[in-house]
Amino acid sequence: MTARILDGKALAADMRAEMKLEVARLKQEHDLVPGLAVVLVGDDPASVSYVKGKQKACGELGVYSRELKFDADLSEEELLRVVSQLNGDDEIHGILVQLSLPEGLDEGRVLNAINPDKDVDGLHPVNLGRLMRGEEGFLPCTPHGVQKILVRSGIEVAGRHVVVVGRSTLVGRPVANILTQKSEGANATVTICHTGTRDLASFTRQADILIVAAGRPRMITAEMVKEGATVIDVGVEQVADPTRKRGYRLVGDVDFDGVREKAGAITPVPGGVGPMTITLLLFNTILAAKRAQGL
Ligand code: NAP
Repeated sequence: MTARILDGKALAADMRAEMKLEVARLKQEHDLVPGLAVVLVGDDPASVSYVKGKQKACGELGVYSRELKFDADLSEEELLRVVSQLNGDDEIHGILVQLSLPEGLDEGRVLNAINPDKDVDGLHPVNLGRLMRGEEGFLPCTPHGVQKILVRSGIEVAGRHVVVVGRSTLVGRPVANILTQKSEGANATVTICHTGTRDLASFTRQADILIVAAGRPRMITAEMVKEGATVIDVGVEQVADPTRKRGYRLVGDVDFDGVREKAGAITPVPGGVGPMTITLLLFNTILAAKRAQGL
């Protein structure tokens, strides 16, 4: 069997087209323009490039974006003041502090200072707590993107056995939590694996849907996957490739070439989960704007 490719780029483009219409409707009917503030401290090239990507996506949808750039020696008190000002700014519905922060700045303290109702990353303890309790909040973008890929590709989740490799707060735990909710596009039976799991393959082979977020290049091989399973590869790692101009290429946690011959459906890297992450950030920003207006 050769797997169906789950094209995250195309799915993200579909979602963005729908969201663009929604942004236009909000402007026309309510004079409301969703606004996202992106805070960048320092000049780490990867962070600069992520921030550019986010601003470009905002521009394409008609979402207002404001970039706040600071030198790496910004003090924590100053950064907390910036966050506090954004919390009270009516033009801004979503606040994103680009991680990682330079040494000396406590990420937890800064993220916790964001008003949970503007926490469009969905990683504030209040929003993670709401997710845990099945209450309305903001879902973290990458895990939510994984759910959207499954649902929008017509892959049944309810009642299936989902195996998640990885238990990070950013991906593994929230994706497991989202997919065990008693709601549409969820209601799965979920197993979470990590480095303490004995005989990982005995679990991954049971998966109807295998979600891998381990940060280990190509660790999931064909023998670890059930025939016909859906495989979602969250991993993104650089591996050396002298044939490329930049000297490396991006791979995921799944051995794509081997696993695609056995799986029923699979996400590529790049072009799978990645494009959905920014899309869900914009989704949350629009949602935050609507909630702020009671819409
Ligand atoms: P992380 O915080 O390093 O967590 C990795 C998790 O995988 C940990 O829970 C770890 O277990 C587990 N793990 C590592 N090696 C394992 C092994 N051999 N067997 C079983 N479990 C193993 O990473 P993360 O932030 O979740 O990110 C994971 C990957 O997703 C990375 O490649 C990252 O770049 C990528 N990512 C992509 C996006 C996107 O938008 N596409 C967004 C976020 C992350 P322990 O807890 O026991 O250490």
